[in-house]
Amino acid sequence: MQWFGRRESDNVDDERGGGGGRLAIGGGVLGLIAAAIYFFTGVDPSAVLNQVATNQPARQEQTTNNGPEDAGKHFVRVVLADTEDIWTKLFNDMGRTYEKPRLSLFRDYVQSACGNASSASGPFYCPGNSKVYIDLSFYDELKNRFGAPGDFAQAYVIAHEVGHHVQNLLGISQKMDQARSRLSESAYNKLSVKLELQADFYAGVWAHYEQSMKKVLDKGDIEEALNAANAIGDDRLQKQAQGHVEPDSFTHGTSAQRMYWFKKGYETGDINQGDTFGNGDLD
Ligand SMILES: [Zn+2]
Repeated sequence: MQWFGRRESDNVDDERGGGGGRLAIGGGVLGLIAAAIYFFTGVDPSAVLNQVATNQPARQEQTTNNGPEDAGKHFVRVVLADTEDIWTKLFNDMGRTYEKPRLSLFRDYVQSACGNASSASGPFYCPGNSKVYIDLSFYDELKNRFGAPGDFAQAYVIAHEVGHHVQNLLGISQKMDQARSRLSESAYNKLSVKLELQADFYAGVWAHYEQSMKKVLDKGDIEEALNAANAIGDDRLQKQAQGHVEPDSFTHGTSAQRMYWFKKGYETGDINQGDTFGNGDLD
């Protein structure tokens, strides 16, 4: 992806160095995290909280010099700027206004409007304050643990979270919240998969315009994103973690599904073709 020296978004908050503050660990936090945060991959909320609790006493003061990570910051700002331009155009085409999300760069853990989270949870979107959260160390994890290197794999992560913001603006997140109260856990998980696949579809639509409107894709970029989508499917992650898969507990979709919807978005560039829910799922 050609990103160096291009326009950078002003909507990035660098929250890596300072304060962090004290974390309130309690039952309510788990509820909040489970209710209204949209993660990039399936996570176990209890594991996230344990991680937060374990990390807390060990936290050290960070210096304000972020060194080599600043390249990462520029990259994130450029990718976010591209999502702003592309979604502004697509919303205009629908006769709507795109309200830009903010993005927080954090380190180790963060207090979001949706509750506390640690880096262990991976990147996420909080609809409560329309903000994307990412610890740049996830990019090392993406490359080394998930085997998905490349700048466009990294861009896809942001585009997926921005996809959740698009869902928020289109009223889909609110419908999900309503559905949660009346559904069993496994029924809600099925709905969650559809929501996540649509975020992947929107990321694919964004990639389509990176190509046709921005002309910034390099050879192999789409393969990088598809490789990442393949690496983070629920079936694959569960198999790696526990040796077997439990489809009822899927929240993000299989590797095949995640690749399918990203690719469909990329090939069509048509947001009307992203109805992963089918008829009536959210009514
Ligand atoms: Zn997601």
